[in-house]
Amino acid sequence: MYNIDRIEPAEHLEIEDLLASRISNEKKDCLRRCEAYYPGVIQNYFENRNQLEVVQPSPQFNGEKEWLKKIYYSRSKIVRDFKGIIKANESLTTCPYCQIDLEQPSIDHFLALDNYPEFAIYADNLIPSCTTCNSIQKGTHFLDENGRRMFFNPYFDDVREKSFLSCIIAVGATVEVNFTIGGNDITGRELELLQNHFLYMNLAKRYRKVSQKFVKSRVTRWERILNDFGMDRLRGEIENEYNNNLTDYGTNYWQTALLRAALLSEPFCNRGFLLAFHI
Ligand SMILES: [Zn+2]
Repeated sequence: MYNIDRIEPAEHLEIEDLLASRISNEKKDCLRRCEAYYPGVIQNYFENRNQLEVVQPSPQFNGEKEWLKKIYYSRSKIVRDFKGIIKANESLTTCPYCQIDLEQPSIDHFLALDNYPEFAIYADNLIPSCTTCNSIQKGTHFLDENGRRMFFNPYFDDVREKSFLSCIIAVGATVEVNFTIGGNDITGRELELLQNHFLYMNLAKRYRKVSQKFVKSRVTRWERILNDFGMDRLRGEIENEYNNNLTDYGTNYWQTALLRAALLSEPFCNRGFLLAFHI
């Protein structure tokens, strides 16, 4: 979870630009019917950007859902270019929801397309994300049973300068890696939101899996360093990689948290990394 920059307002896809483009007349008719209501719903979204759970679907757009979806999925150049801009966000380093992957970026509708068709092409509602996070988000769920938002918004929930991802490594017959959300930097609703996001994005399990893969990819090198130069040298090696991750991806990146935990675990550094992971 980390923050990305919104795209510039000049790069948003506006209804008048779509009306002037090469899209079908049926799509244009839909846009003309929506045009009068659009500025109001956009204003409402932006005014509630820090508490999007209060935004209600607008009934005026109910009958337009199928056409708005068709516009979003349209193969026309103007729509493809717009999606390209969303995916090419320069502040992206990995998926902003999970920080695991972004090999094939997709676009997630933060307020789901099925429930909120009015935000089908609204740039601030479109989050570049990995396909796994996108498929989890795609459900119709948005609030938990207590009425609290389930997912972190990378544009508007500000977690810059905050530390909240912890990892603990326990070495026994196997290696156990446990990621949690907590710490002193976040409290109250913000803590609940990040914990919800962590839970509903299934990040505990996903982070364990990528941690196992990551350690496997390092085992041969780490074992050689330990055998040839001893534990201090290995810890130095791990610390270097930790610092690189901290600089490039921040303190809440799963690899940063994992390596921080590794440095604190003497049993792990002293051949524990050779043991199988408990997933
Ligand atoms: Zn993701």
